[in-house]
Amino acid sequence: MNSDIKNEETKRGCPDQKEMERELSDYISKKYGEKTRFVTPLLNPQQELDGDGEEGGVWSRINFDMNPEELVAYLDQYIICQDEAKAVLATKICTHFNRAKYLSKRQTGDPADGVGLIKNNVLMIGPTGVGKTYMVKLIAAKLGVPFVKGDATKFSETGYVGGDVEDLIRDLVHEAGDDIELAQYGIVYVDEIDKIASSHNLVGPDVSRTGVQRALLKPMEETEVDLKVPHDPISQIQAIERYRKTGKRERQTVNTRHILFIMSGAFGDLPEIIKRRLNRKSMGFTSDVRADLADQAYFQELTAQDLVEYGFENEFVGRIPVQVVLEELTAEDLYHILRNPNNPVIISKKRDFAAYGIELHFEDAALKDLADRAARLKTGARALVSVVEKALMPFEKHLPSTDIKRLLVTSELVADPKAVLAQLLGDPENPRLQERLDEAAKDERMDLLKMVAKREPLYRGRLRGPLTPARMDLIADEYYRVGMTLGAAFEMVLGRLAEVHEFEENFYQRYSLKISFTEAAEVAILAGAAAEGVAVATFLQRLSQVLEPGLRLARDRTGREEFVLPEKAALDTDAYLREVFQEHFQSTLSREL
Ligand code: ADP
Repeated sequence: MNSDIKNEETKRGCPDQKEMERELSDYISKKYGEKTRFVTPLLNPQQELDGDGEEGGVWSRINFDMNPEELVAYLDQYIICQDEAKAVLATKICTHFNRAKYLSKRQTGDPADGVGLIKNNVLMIGPTGVGKTYMVKLIAAKLGVPFVKGDATKFSETGYVGGDVEDLIRDLVHEAGDDIELAQYGIVYVDEIDKIASSHNLVGPDVSRTGVQRALLKPMEETEVDLKVPHDPISQIQAIERYRKTGKRERQTVNTRHILFIMSGAFGDLPEIIKRRLNRKSMGFTSDVRADLADQAYFQELTAQDLVEYGFENEFVGRIPVQVVLEELTAEDLYHILRNPNNPVIISKKRDFAAYGIELHFEDAALKDLADRAARLKTGARALVSVVEKALMPFEKHLPSTDIKRLLVTSELVADPKAVLAQLLGDPENPRLQERLDEAAKDERMDLLKMVAKREPLYRGRLRGPLTPARMDLIADEYYRVGMTLGAAFEMVLGRLAEVHEFEENFYQRYSLKISFTEAAEVAILAGAAAEGVAVATFLQRLSQVLEPGLRLARDRTGREEFVLPEKAALDTDAYLREVFQEHFQSTLSREL
């Protein structure tokens, strides 16, 4: 009994941290009012990281409610060609995350549950600049999982100059904004993996390539990676910083069980190996049946055995069960990349010029020429950046110090930028050129509107109504105004439409008045806010100041509780309200007469 009292007193004398925090919070709230609270992020770190399966756990931070076909449709908006790679990658990544989610939510109590499952790590084979990294980056961004890229030639089995495999895992934590739980579902992309095949002496004599492969084995399956690099003061400081930032007690390790590894390389000599094997097999029947096949076609016959022969350890190959082959891009493909409104090369160039107040337009023939030039450089779509840069560089240098505010990229310009610049400076108002500019701008917009229409099915559920020409124009305007991807422009406009709907709902809750803007009114609100450069919320708030008393009065006078608000209600609210009253008086008058 005595000891119970003592315990009680000790408890009272020294309350635990939570109790202390509660008492302090109560005291402060009493003194400074209800809304003031005592918060101690540093003294009282949040609970250990959320459990996977719990509400608010890591799955609420990963945007994963997609099926493979939706993911492919998303990739289609950005990636030209590579249909097979898109399909395989999207399917396998969906399966990977679905499985991880399923395992983390299901608690069978069986410790062997999930053990021995082989991860869907992927090997991407394809030349440079064909979309390998781009595809994976796009998926990671869509899912909201961290992504890091490393180069296999920089690794060693122990870690040296370039760092080791475990550094990549630590980078994932950094990319995840120090959210370790999220980092455990990240994607690690390792490029130039073909250079660590043992028969390819490219890494340097002092580093064992099979050693690097072995160093990758464990993380690729499952291992705990220490967050702090031993004896590294910087990582110790980072650990302290993480604690200060997140208030979370330092967790020492990252588990790689659900981290997806994507390996990539060009594998130039691999077709030869496949060819040899196939020929061996066909010997005695028809000789060299496949001699006419292109290298690309041989990749379709790839087996794990070929990778072993190429110089990979059996265990290593066993950990990359999924293989995808990407095609080389032709000049025609590169042209389609340039025409895609989501392609970052043109978007960023337009944005660069827009920063100087210069509108940039491209003629279709110029896009074809740029693509042809890029194709000759044999570095896939990467070459597009350099050819576009080369063509526009003299203009980027000169035009900002002139009055020229519009530039048309033509075939002539691509062929001889300096000569065209001289011509332009000599005759900036040339009417023929202005005509061509208008024409090109019109064609570009038509093209863009077609693409907006094509994407409608992706957003159908969220549009709340048809994608009318006026709404399409809003999306196109947004695309040009901010210089973003078409997907982002859609998101912006949808977000603003959602704000308008929220305003309608709030209006009802506050004033018991049911209002709904017509589609034309919605468009007028969005366009009005954009023209004034204010947020939709600000625009609506201002509108509300006139609309709210007006409609309340109208209700009192007319008895109406529902108003469908036309464009006029948004553009000239006073005039609209006058009409409402006039209509009412006229109809009462005519009834009374
Ligand atoms: P790699 O295949 O060497 O990893 P990337 O994926 O990094 O090449 O491609 C470089 C850039 O080229 C990308 O950022 C993207 O802008 C463009 N690109 C490459 N392939 C495609 C493609 N198939 N469709 C659209 N753009 C592409």
